[in-house]
Amino acid sequence: MTRPKTRQPKVVWRKLGKERAWGQATCDPTYPTIEIDPRLSPKRELEVLCHEQLHLSLPDLSESQIDRLGKEMSRTLWSQNYRRVLMGKHKTPVRISK
Ligand SMILES: [Zn+2]
Repeated sequence: MTRPKTRQPKVVWRKLGKERAWGQATCDPTYPTIEIDPRLSPKRELEVLCHEQLHLSLPDLSESQIDRLGKEMSRTLWSQNYRRVLMGKHKTPVRISK
């Protein structure tokens, strides 16, 4: 069973109160989207990002299978110190002069 490659999703950070979820994946093959609530802790953020990407990559898996995979992947990444780096609007480091 082969499936066409999933496009790289657009990731949107927004509060997801009403949806009662920390993350959400929209499996539209032309515009796959992952939404993540920005209020999560950094560790949960990584888990939810993995979780939602797994939904897009493996749409046939059940929620509990995805949940397990997301936890396992993010746990290993986190243990190897993978973290989100926030990029400022300036691409070059700000020079500090005295
Ligand atoms: Zn899920």
